[in-house]
Amino acid sequence: MRQLTCIGPGAIEWREVPEPRLAGDGEALVRPLAVARCDIDPFLVSGFLPSKGPFALGHEAVVEIVALGDAVQGLALGQRAVVSFQVSCGRCASCRAGRSAGCDAYPALSDYGMQPLSGVEYGGMLSDLVRVPHAEAMLQPVPDGFDPVALASVSDNVLDGYRSVAPHLATQPGANVLVVCHGKTRSIALYGVQAALALGASRVDFASDDAETLALAEKLGAQPVPTDFGRRQGRYPIVVDCGLRPEGLHYALGSTEPEGVCQSVSFYAAGMTPMPLGKLYTLGIRFFIGRAHAASLLPEVMPLIAEGRLRPGEVTTRVVGWEEAPAAYLEDSIKLVVARERGAATRPESAQEGVPVRR
Ligand SMILES: [Zn+2]
Ligand SMILES: [Zn+2]
Repeated sequence: MRQLTCIGPGAIEWREVPEPRLAGDGEALVRPLAVARCDIDPFLVSGFLPSKGPFALGHEAVVEIVALGDAVQGLALGQRAVVSFQVSCGRCASCRAGRSAGCDAYPALSDYGMQPLSGVEYGGMLSDLVRVPHAEAMLQPVPDGFDPVALASVSDNVLDGYRSVAPHLATQPGANVLVVCHGKTRSIALYGVQAALALGASRVDFASDDAETLALAEKLGAQPVPTDFGRRQGRYPIVVDCGLRPEGLHYALGSTEPEGVCQSVSFYAAGMTPMPLGKLYTLGIRFFIGRAHAASLLPEVMPLIAEGRLRPGEVTTRVVGWEEAPAAYLEDSIKLVVARERGAATRPESAQEGVPVRR
C-alpha cells in the first residue's frame, strides 16, 4: 500500500510499504478518507527533531472501518470514525481516569505519524490502511451526514483547542477569554476560539502578530488584537498560551488576571524556558500545561460537533486531493486537509470487493 513518508528534512514522497494486518481481536483496520495536517507536522518535516530514518505522516483523520476483530463491540464495518491520534488501551488506570495520553500500556508520545517524537513507528493517516490496536477506545463514530473533510482535525487539534478552555469555563462560566497565538500553531488557537464561544465565554479576544490568522479569528467571532507580544492590552480571567516563542508565553502570563488561569497548549523545545514565578506566586496565577488526552476527550467533543455548536470546518483554509499531498504538505497554510478522491486506485485489498470483511 502507499504511505506518505517523510524521507528527510523537507522531503516527502509516497512510498510502498507492507499493508498492516489485524493482530488481535480488539483491533480495527481503517481507511483514512480525509487527513488534516497537525500544527506540529511542519516541525516534524523540517527535521527539527532527529528521526530514526523515514517516517509515516499524518495523525488527524476521519476514516472508514474496513476490518474489525471479533471482540470489538459498538462499531461496524463501513462506519466512519475519528481516530485518537494517541495510541491508548482504554482499560488501564490512566485511561479510566481520563488521562489517555499517558496510557500505562504504551510509552509517552505513542502517536501516529510522529516517529521522531515517539521513536516508534505506529503508521500514519496518509496511508491506504491503518491498524488501530484498541478499536473501542480509539475510534469515535462520526455522526451521519458530516463531511469527513470538515471533521478531519477532530482527532487532535480540535480537541486541543477545546481542552484549552473547557475546564476553565466550567469553573468560571461566561468568563472573558484571551487566546494568545504566537507562531505556526495557528489552527489550535482558532479551534480554541470556537470552543470558548461555544462554551459560553462572554467575549474572546485573539492576540497574534499574523494578519491572516487575526482575520480568521475575527470571522469566527473573536475580537482581533494585533500585537508584537510587547505591551499587554488588558488582563483576563482565562488566557490560552498557544505558540512556540517565550515572548508569547510571557505576554500570555502578563495578560492573566490575579487569581486567573493561564492554560498553555504549547511545547517549548528549549531545555529551560524562563518563567516569572515570583509574579505568578504574588498574583496567584495558576499555570497549566500538558498534552491533550485524545481518546478521553473524543466522547465529550463529538456531541458538540453533532449539535452544530462546534464547526471545525470553518478553520480549514486549504483542501487538496490525495495526489497533491506531498507538495501541499510543504506549503504554508493555516489548516490543510488532504481528501482521498472517491474511487481512487489506492483502495486496500481488504476493501477491493466494495464489501468490507470481518476477520
Ligand atoms: Zn498533532
Ligand atoms: Zn491505557
